[in-house]
Amino acid sequence: MNVVDATGVHPMTVHFCSCAAQKSEFEQLLDMGIYPGSVKWLRMAFTFAMLDSFHIANLECKTNAREYYQIIRRTTSPAFPHRVQDRYREFMRVVWQWQHLKVMKWNGFGHGPYMTLGSGQLALWCAACPQPGINLLENWKEDEERKPYLYTQTLNLDGNMKAEQMVQKYVDLALTDGGGFMVADGPYQDSIQCSVKIKEKATCNNLWAISMGNMSSKGLQVTGIGAAACARHRSFCPHSCVNFQKGERSVLILLLP
Ligand SMILES: [Zn+2]
Ligand SMILES: [Zn+2]
Repeated sequence: MNVVDATGVHPMTVHFCSCAAQKSEFEQLLDMGIYPGSVKWLRMAFTFAMLDSFHIANLECKTNAREYYQIIRRTTSPAFPHRVQDRYREFMRVVWQWQHLKVMKWNGFGHGPYMTLGSGQLALWCAACPQPGINLLENWKEDEERKPYLYTQTLNLDGNMKAEQMVQKYVDLALTDGGGFMVADGPYQDSIQCSVKIKEKATCNNLWAISMGNMSSKGLQVTGIGAAACARHRSFCPHSCVNFQKGERSVLILLLP
């Protein structure tokens, strides 16, 4: 079996325990801190340490999976990195599953009885904004009349017009559909279908955002991204980000829950 660690790709001979009360081979690997590349064919595995190290490199240095895997190949064989097995596809799949499992664990899933995932449950919301039952006193309503500014929440709606995505040949399935910052796809698509298609007219001369919104989006499945955030602390609202289908059409933003 080839075990991929942050220190390189290591070919190893693995003997699984076959005692009477043994766990499955897949579980035995997990107990050792190794995440298998497949459940059926255990020929490739990644260490937990390497998956965590990639996560940090991705957050801090914006290293993508392809670049990170190239680092591993170069570490394994500095002179001939191209001779080291290319397991980028398996790496992508495992990273996807790993990050999903971790975010579920951090949010209390998997520790007790089965829980169904609700909208935005895997995302953290602003700790400073007033939230009854979390960071407000029980009698906050009495104080509200005197100091309304303490209990008012202001939200900003904005979008990024340049975050484009081409039409994909293979569509990835969502693991946390609506559980994080992005809205659930089904209800969102339904609401787009029901919305009226209005061609916005700019009142000022050639307003860029509106002209872009009315432009054709051939070959693109996403033309931008929009989100709601708290105006004071700039924390994104859970379950509020949408993919624009055609420019910055403000109709899509108005459909936010
Ligand atoms: Zn044994
Ligand atoms: Zn806030």
